[in-house]
Amino acid sequence: MQEDLARKLGQACGYEDWSLFLVNSGAEANENALKLASFHTGRDKIVAFHGAFHGRTSGAVAVTDNPKIQAPFNAHHKVAFATLNDLDSVEQELRGGDVAAVILEAIQGVGGIRIATDEFLQGLRALCTKYGTVLIMDEVQCGYGRTGWFFAHQKAGITPDLVSVAKGMANGFPIGGVLISPEFKATKGMLGTTFGGNYLAMAGAHAVLDIIRKENLLENVSRTGAWLKANIPTSPLIKEVRGEGLMLGIEFTQPVADIRKKLLFEKHIFTGVSGTSMIRLLAPLVLSVDDAAIFVQALKEVLNA
Ligand SMILES: *Cc1c(COP(=O)(O)O)cnc(C)c1O
Repeated sequence: MQEDLARKLGQACGYEDWSLFLVNSGAEANENALKLASFHTGRDKIVAFHGAFHGRTSGAVAVTDNPKIQAPFNAHHKVAFATLNDLDSVEQELRGGDVAAVILEAIQGVGGIRIATDEFLQGLRALCTKYGTVLIMDEVQCGYGRTGWFFAHQKAGITPDLVSVAKGMANGFPIGGVLISPEFKATKGMLGTTFGGNYLAMAGAHAVLDIIRKENLLENVSRTGAWLKANIPTSPLIKEVRGEGLMLGIEFTQPVADIRKKLLFEKHIFTGVSGTSMIRLLAPLVLSVDDAAIFVQALKEVLNA
């Protein structure tokens, strides 16, 4: 069942000869991706980005006193933060030759729908190859069809070394995974898990991939997302609308708490948030244009636009 899922996920995203290590959450997927990068390179430094969100665990491995399962580093002690879409700020860190991995979201979710440009991702891929650094794409939020691409980084035409997934993978049931490029050294015995790959999670993950394919959801996300983005009302209160597919952020010129309250209590629409002045929309991938139109109308009424 786990092997079938790895095969099915590989087919869905186009990384057919990759391995899949199954875990239970996004944070755990990233922890394991960072461990793998460290094992693979023998290095201990990580480069992440300002505004990034990768999960809440704090590296349980740092308090593990068993050489067989202990990572050779604690990620939390050697992290440098570079600036998104600024290749120089990354190369500055990579030059020392001690960076195991660069980890990033192709679109920062919690950070406020900040988009890594195609050129930046392509440049980053080249830099990581040049310096022998592992490129980890955290697709926990922006992946699994959310942007209309299976993975958000695929829009830039790049192939990372590791991809972490979770959130949408079993449509709400806890599961996560690390997709591992075939170029990676054998990792047997380096990683472990108790609940990873459990049968209930597998059933959910299989169903999600089946439905994404059968119902053509990537196409639906592109179509509905493009319509929604183009039809967000213009208003003096709205500064910018950005995002891709059904991962959209509406940035306001003022805090959005009252607008969100009105949307919820008067229009019965629950919206997400990022910071204080952005409404973050992460609608279900099955959202239709008709559904989206209900939201647009409600927002117009709430904003008097
Ligand atoms: C939610 C999220 C995580 C953490 O996932 P959990 O399942 O909550 O541990 C990691 N990265 C990104 C980009 C996320 O949005």
